[in-house]
Amino acid sequence: MTMSADFIVVGAGSAGCIAAAELVRREAGSVLLLEAGPTDNSPLVKMPFGLVWMMGSSKRDWRYVSTPQTHLGGRRLNVTRGRMVGGSGSINSMVWFRGRKDDFDNWQLPGWTWSDVEPAFEAIEARLTPSRMRGAHPLTEGLHSLFPEHGTTPPTPEHESAGVFAFNMVDGRRRSAADGFVKPAPDGLSIVTGFEVDKVLFKDGTACGIRLVDGSELHATKGVILSAGSIGSPSILMRSGVGPRADLEALGIDVRYDAEEVGANLHDHPAAGLHFAGPGSGYGITPAQMPGWALAPFQYLLARSGRFASPTVEGGGFFNARGLDEAPDVQSHFIPFKLGWEGKRYVYGSGYFADVGVCRPKSRGALRLTSRDPQAAPDIDLGLFNDSSDMDTLVAGLKRLRTLMEQVDFGARHAPEAFPGPAVQSDDALRAHIRDRGATAYHPVGTLRMGNGAAPVDPRLAVRGARGLWVADASVMPAVTSANTNAPSMMIGHRAAQLIAEDAT
Ligand SMILES: Cc1cc2nc3c(=O)[nH]c(=O)nc-3n(C[C@H](O)[C@H](O)[C@H](O)COP(=O)(O)OP(=O)(O)OC[C@H]3O[C@@H](n4cnc5c(N)ncnc54)[C@H](O)[C@@H]3O)c2cc1C
Repeated sequence: MTMSADFIVVGAGSAGCIAAAELVRREAGSVLLLEAGPTDNSPLVKMPFGLVWMMGSSKRDWRYVSTPQTHLGGRRLNVTRGRMVGGSGSINSMVWFRGRKDDFDNWQLPGWTWSDVEPAFEAIEARLTPSRMRGAHPLTEGLHSLFPEHGTTPPTPEHESAGVFAFNMVDGRRRSAADGFVKPAPDGLSIVTGFEVDKVLFKDGTACGIRLVDGSELHATKGVILSAGSIGSPSILMRSGVGPRADLEALGIDVRYDAEEVGANLHDHPAAGLHFAGPGSGYGITPAQMPGWALAPFQYLLARSGRFASPTVEGGGFFNARGLDEAPDVQSHFIPFKLGWEGKRYVYGSGYFADVGVCRPKSRGALRLTSRDPQAAPDIDLGLFNDSSDMDTLVAGLKRLRTLMEQVDFGARHAPEAFPGPAVQSDDALRAHIRDRGATAYHPVGTLRMGNGAAPVDPRLAVRGARGLWVADASVMPAVTSANTNAPSMMIGHRAAQLIAEDAT
């Protein structure tokens, strides 16, 4: 195996796999793709329901937690991140959305308008073939009754809509960026697992390789691409001396380039939900459903169907929180399983769950290093609800969600709201519910925003203050897209290869 290459890509996640494979396809040079975690060779990765057991695993989840969130009663939230080939795209629910067209236009950056990015989405979808989920629960199918004018077409953030989502699953199996782009690895691409990067190495201001946490060094003749995700990439960059001067000096890190905004602009989709419970409604643990659970492994193995073929989130929708005739500003995820609201993993009874999340949050947090030790977790302040308009939108969204869940035609499977329950009506009571239960959709972005001026990364994905160093992952999004972030992260990987192949010398 070659341990030096023209390019080193750090992180074999959703964006990194595609950036690496496309650089090789474009004959930009040889590529070494480094992944801190293990391979994705596990039935839990491939089987959609497996994510239930992977989240929180010490092997495949970085298991980050946020700092205490001021507007959530000081609670710390899980910041789940995949740690394996495929990255968070190997642990996620596989919901497939490009985002709204104007999400990209509103970035107002050359090379990133909808017409610039659409071909990258098309190319990725040709490989991953995302499609409407087959075998969704009848409850999820029932969501289409909310906006019948759209038939059974999957919902879209472009207009109000609800129903079964599209997923990057093929024949009941996960099809990640790794599956679609680096298996098998094309000639010129080497992938290694268990290689955790500490920092970037420079020679005369040009990135020339990386140092691993075990101290060994690997060299790149044309440059280094950080694809370690919204938590990993800014951390590596700061350890490499690119970041806010005062923070780096306080940790004893030599400052290479004072970049105030590295780690700033962290944001995510804040969300909160409603639980429904009642006999004969959704999946759950009841005597009548025990045969279904007992059969589930066999149904999955023999026909790729049944409960284990469900990624838990099966559908949802987009709507305007206040019912205005404007663009949807909230997204809902629907899970046709009874989830515990008392903090227990397995709960008795049958039910379902729907959440609502703010599509375009205004709140911003920040990621800061706590140590120059590469294995020390950074401080992840999600900054949720720092901007009170996000809370107002979420309160309005919960009310609209409640109305829609009363209107939806679930037939005999309809169940009453069990938590927080109909008594929780006033804005203040709903705010308290969000404070107690609100979380995120696991879509952190923005910590290395691309932009003009003081933005750490320029619109061609080059890190300001360094040569031969680029970023290709969700961290470069200046503002999160209106829906789930996996497809947009992959698009960034695809565009990155195109830009870097043109710019690398
Ligand atoms: C539980 C969960 C559910 C989600 N559900 C959905 C969904 O249904 N649909 C959707 O669109 N989005 C979903 N997302 C979000 C989506 O998966 C991410 O936005 C996307 O995967 C981000 O891609 P990325 O390339 O930026 O980072 P990642 O895919 O996270 O890749 C980063 C990679 O870098 C590696 N890495 C990090 N640090 C280092 C280091 N120091 N050295 C070497 N390697 C390193 C990591 O191990 C990882 O493999 C979900 C995320 C989670 C966690």
